[in-house]
Amino acid sequence: MNFSPNITLTGTTLPVMESFYTLQGEGAYQGHASWFIRLGGCDVGCVWCDVKDSWDASKHPVKPISDLVAEASAHPGRLAVITGGEPLLHDCGPLTIALQEAGFRTHIETSGSSPLSGSWNWICLSPKKFKAPLPEVLGQADELKVVVYNKHDFAWAEQHAALVSTTCKLFLQPEWSRKEEMTPQIVDYILAHPQWTLSAQVHKFINVP
Ligand code: SF4
Repeated sequence: MNFSPNITLTGTTLPVMESFYTLQGEGAYQGHASWFIRLGGCDVGCVWCDVKDSWDASKHPVKPISDLVAEASAHPGRLAVITGGEPLLHDCGPLTIALQEAGFRTHIETSGSSPLSGSWNWICLSPKKFKAPLPEVLGQADELKVVVYNKHDFAWAEQHAALVSTTCKLFLQPEWSRKEEMTPQIVDYILAHPQWTLSAQVHKFINVP
């Protein structure tokens, strides 16, 4: 789904925690070669967050868009995943347009809790209880990825599945520290509710970033 907001002069430089070339380990594009750009800054505060170093944007170097596109273009893959942190704390318009002009598909991984900006080929929304997604972002999601920490999260998942489009793909993903307990429950849930699919964080099993 493409979304092109009004582009402003903001977003021409962005705080970047890290960027790296790897296989997407989650969701609909699992296994695809991808250039990840992890932007600094997050105001969601998930207790189980595995990238808490990303939260404070001021800790990370601010880079111009031209450098980010040049770094991405040094690798053969043409799928760019913008993640965080919470990337929608920033105006993603200039970066995503520049990446698309350089031939990339642009994917975002977001909690959907801040207003949508950017020109996206794929929006993966992972709702968080700590700061709810905005209805406008839910309605644009191509992929709903719900992290399952305990059994109550199945109802949470269904609440959000009712708010996305009928074409949105639905994924359940065990929270990594709880995977031994929750994965069998997710498997049983999917067998009974086959509209859902398992997302297993394959990159962590094969030890790639
Ligand atoms: S939204 Fe993502 S980066 Fe932010 S606290 Fe939650 S898991 Fe961590």
